[in-house]
Amino acid sequence: MSVEDKVKKFLEKIKKEDGKINAFLHLNDKVVEEARAVDEKFKKTGKKGKLYGFVVAVKSNINVKGIICNCASRVLENYVAPYDATVISKIKGEDGVIIGMTNMDEFAAGVSGENSAFGPTQNPAALGKIPGGSSSGSAAAVAAGFCDVALGSDTGGSIRAPASHCGIVGMKPSYGAVSRYGLVDLSMSLDQIGPLAKNVEDAKLLFEVISGRDERDTMSEDIKEDEGNTINIGVLKIKGIDSRIHKIVEHKLREVAKINKWLIKEIELENIGLAVQTYYPLVYSEFYSGTRRFDGRRYGYRFEDKCGKEVLRRVLGGSEITKAEHAGAYYRRSLEIKQMISEEFSKAFGKVDCIIIPVCPILPWKVGEGDKMSIEEVYAADALTCPANLAGICSVAVPSGIVENIPVGLQVMCAKGNDLKALKIAGKFS
Ligand code: GLN
Repeated sequence: MSVEDKVKKFLEKIKKEDGKINAFLHLNDKVVEEARAVDEKFKKTGKKGKLYGFVVAVKSNINVKGIICNCASRVLENYVAPYDATVISKIKGEDGVIIGMTNMDEFAAGVSGENSAFGPTQNPAALGKIPGGSSSGSAAAVAAGFCDVALGSDTGGSIRAPASHCGIVGMKPSYGAVSRYGLVDLSMSLDQIGPLAKNVEDAKLLFEVISGRDERDTMSEDIKEDEGNTINIGVLKIKGIDSRIHKIVEHKLREVAKINKWLIKEIELENIGLAVQTYYPLVYSEFYSGTRRFDGRRYGYRFEDKCGKEVLRRVLGGSEITKAEHAGAYYRRSLEIKQMISEEFSKAFGKVDCIIIPVCPILPWKVGEGDKMSIEEVYAADALTCPANLAGICSVAVPSGIVENIPVGLQVMCAKGNDLKALKIAGKFS
């Protein structure tokens, strides 16, 4: 099938079915032309880029030139991206075609997809339930068959949580493995762009295209080659996980470990229980600081007058905890604990090749219920994902089974830079 025909098929399906899923905020109105150009290039040169034939959906916080990139916020409602993010240039350079921009929690602040200013996204794999967030539309678009692969961003779990709830694969690369140039920050010291896909193979392909050192992101670096065989798998004893989730992940792990002759070792990470309390002050402070760029003189409104409830909470909270009178007490203290968690992981990776735990401690709730929960309850949903961001390590979420008709994922965490190793291990689960 030509890329043009493939794109047209996806567009038809989106037109028919996205009314009830709400995965897309904007479609690329040049996508058919762009697909045709890829077809023509192949006809002329006989060469195919690595992403030839791949149709990609993009989270609405990643700049794609000429398309609205509003982060699902009224603050940036009509902001048209004036340039391509590095990841987008790389995708286009390998013949990938961008089909549109996906729905998300406003400015990536959320875990459910309910915080979008343009309505929540539904979970195609468990209708009525949240798809997980904040890359809700990207995960839903892949799960619903609206595209081949998608890009999301993960600050504390926003790629892995929706991958888990929608029954697909999602990867948070090591910090620095993928350029953040052109990503609208939630928290610049934690954010990473990464792939969502139906299988590990496609996720790996997209990751390989977008990763690597980029002059425009000084924190970016090349990743390591995959080294050695996998022998030791670390597992953690963690309190507060739904027993059905715990059981299904453990069962899947034992099954796959047996086939691959892996040894399972129980290890301890003493401070992992502090991850949520450490993560949020960092996000509040960095997000508050980042939003000061969106001043009313250039964007027409005062940020605080246009943003949604959760974003406002973070802006006001961030402005409070970064006040001079606190002398950096919250931010600095959080950085110290972040460092402790990071060192604990490094030590653990001296003993095991990877650590495998569930992605989410609880099953996804019904769309709309997030509003009735306390903010502590909502934030607790990040307990198992945000440690990887704090430690800067990589983590790949893969499906591990079904509980009450809802997909449940596990995550394979490897040391910083060992992204290919994490993908290889994750591949054994499909
Ligand atoms: N749920 C987390 C938060 O709200 C994670 C968000 C993300 O990874 N972008 O901050």
